[in-house]
Amino acid sequence: MSVQRVISPIDGSVVAERPIATPDQVEAVLRRADAARAAWAATPLVERAAKVELAVQYMLDHADEVGLEMTVQMGRPVGQSPNEIRRGFQERARMRATLAPAALADLPASQKDGFQRFIRREPVGTVLVVAPWNFPYLTSINSIAPALLSGNTVILKHATQTILCAERYSAAFEAAGLPDGVFQHIHADHAAIASMIADPRIGFVAFTGSVEGGHSIQAAAASRFIGTGLELGGKDPSYVRADADLELAIAENVDGAFFNAGQSCCSIERIYVHESVYDDFVDGVRAETLKYVLGDPRDASTSIGPMVTTKAATFVRGQIDEAIARGATAITSEADFAGSRPGTPYVGPTVLVGVDHSMSVMRDESFGPVVGIMKVSGDDEAIALMNDSPYGLSACVWSRDVDAAVAIGDRIETGPWFMNRCDYLDPELAWTGVKDTGHGISLSPLGFDGVTRVKSFHLKLPG
Ligand code: NAP
Repeated sequence: MSVQRVISPIDGSVVAERPIATPDQVEAVLRRADAARAAWAATPLVERAAKVELAVQYMLDHADEVGLEMTVQMGRPVGQSPNEIRRGFQERARMRATLAPAALADLPASQKDGFQRFIRREPVGTVLVVAPWNFPYLTSINSIAPALLSGNTVILKHATQTILCAERYSAAFEAAGLPDGVFQHIHADHAAIASMIADPRIGFVAFTGSVEGGHSIQAAAASRFIGTGLELGGKDPSYVRADADLELAIAENVDGAFFNAGQSCCSIERIYVHESVYDDFVDGVRAETLKYVLGDPRDASTSIGPMVTTKAATFVRGQIDEAIARGATAITSEADFAGSRPGTPYVGPTVLVGVDHSMSVMRDESFGPVVGIMKVSGDDEAIALMNDSPYGLSACVWSRDVDAAVAIGDRIETGPWFMNRCDYLDPELAWTGVKDTGHGISLSPLGFDGVTRVKSFHLKLPG
C-alpha cells in the first residue's frame, strides 16, 4: 500500500502517514461530489454562507491547536502560526461571504420593451483545489470559500507536507453541518489528480504551487475545456526610492523577506535601493535581520523556524554560495545565528549585497531566507531590473510620492502593486500574476469568475 508521509522539518520525525487514494476511492469521491451538486447549488446563498461561517468559527475555536499542528508539519514558529487562522484565513473567508451577494447577482441588460434580459452566474459543478504547504489555510481558503459560496462542491487535495490540514478542513465542514459530499478531501498522488482533472465531473481546478506543477495541471486539463486557476511562483521585487520612509522600509522589507523563513509566494526576494539612501538602508536591514531568533518552532522565543526540507535548504545555500563565488558579500550569514545547522533545514537569514542579475539568487525563486540588495540610480533603472524576471506575482515601492508610485506601477509587469506595504493579500483586490506566475484570479469580486459560468437569459415576453 502506498502512503503519504509528513516528515517534520523540526527533527525529521514522521508526523503522520496516510494511504494514498486508490482508483476506486477516487471514483467514490467524485461520485459523492457529483451527487451532492444539484442540492447544494439550489441551496440559497444565505444558507451556504452560514455553513461557511460555521466552519470558520470552528477553525477560530481551534486556532491554537491548528496552529501547533501546522508548526509541526511545516516549521513556522508557533508564536505565528495560529495567526494564519485568526487573521488572514477568517478575514478572507468572511470577505468572500460579504462580496458574494453582489458578485453572484444577476447582471441585467438594458431595458428593452417586450423583453426580459439578464446574465446569471451558475456554479461550474465540482471544484478541485490543489493546495501548497507554505500557507496551508490562507492559500486554500482563497478558492474553497468562493467555490462553496457559488454553489459548487469541492474536493481538496492538500500538499503531502500538510495532509493534516485537509483533515482539519473536513472536520470544520462536518462541524458546520455541510451536507454529505459538498466538501471532501482526498490524499491523492499526482497521477490520481491528473485522472480527476480529465474527468467530466470536475468543473474547475484551482492550483497553487510551483511553475512545474502548474505546467502539469495545465497539461492534464488540455483535453478538456474547463478553467484552471494557476497561482504559481514569484521573485518579488521591492524598490526603495530616495524619498522613502527608511525606518518603515527597513522593517517591512526584512519582515517581507524572512517571515515564514522566506517561504511565501510573495516574499521579498530582490531589493533595489536608490544610491542616496543605500548605505543607511543596508545598515538598517543588517541590524533588523540580526534580531531574528532561529530555532525550534515549538519554542515561543523562536521568530524564524527551519525551512520545510533539507532539500529546499540545500537549494538556498547553493544560491548563496554561487552569489558569493561571483562576488557578492553576505552582510548577515548563517554564522550570525546560533540556531543555524548546516546540512539541515535550519538556515540563518542571509542578506547579500554586491549582487547582480547574473546570479541565480536574483533570478530564480529562492523560496527561503535569503535576499539580495542592489543599488540603483533612479526609477528607470529600478523598473528595468524589477521587470527583468520570468515571474510577475507582486511588487512594491517605498516612497512618499503617490503619483510616482502609480506611474511606476503602470510600468511594472506584475499582479498586485503595493506602495509602502509588501507580502500581503488584500481580500478586496484581485490576487493574480503575470508571466510564469500563472493566470487566474482569486480574492476580490473577480475571484468568483473561475468558479462560476454565465448563462444569458433572453426572454421575449408574451403579447
Ligand atoms: P508544488 O510542489 O507545486 O506543490 C503544490 C501542490 O500541488 C501540492 O499539493 C502538490 O502535491 C501538488 N502537486 C505538485 N505537482 C503536481 C502534479 N504534477 N500533479 C498534481 N498535483 C501536484 O509546490 P510547493 O513546493 O508545495 O509550493 C511552493 C510553490 O508554490 C512556490 O513556487 C510558491 O511561490 C508557490 N505559491 C504560489 C502562491 C500564489 O499565490 N501565487 C501561493 C503559495 C505558493 P504533493 O505535495 O503531494 O506533491
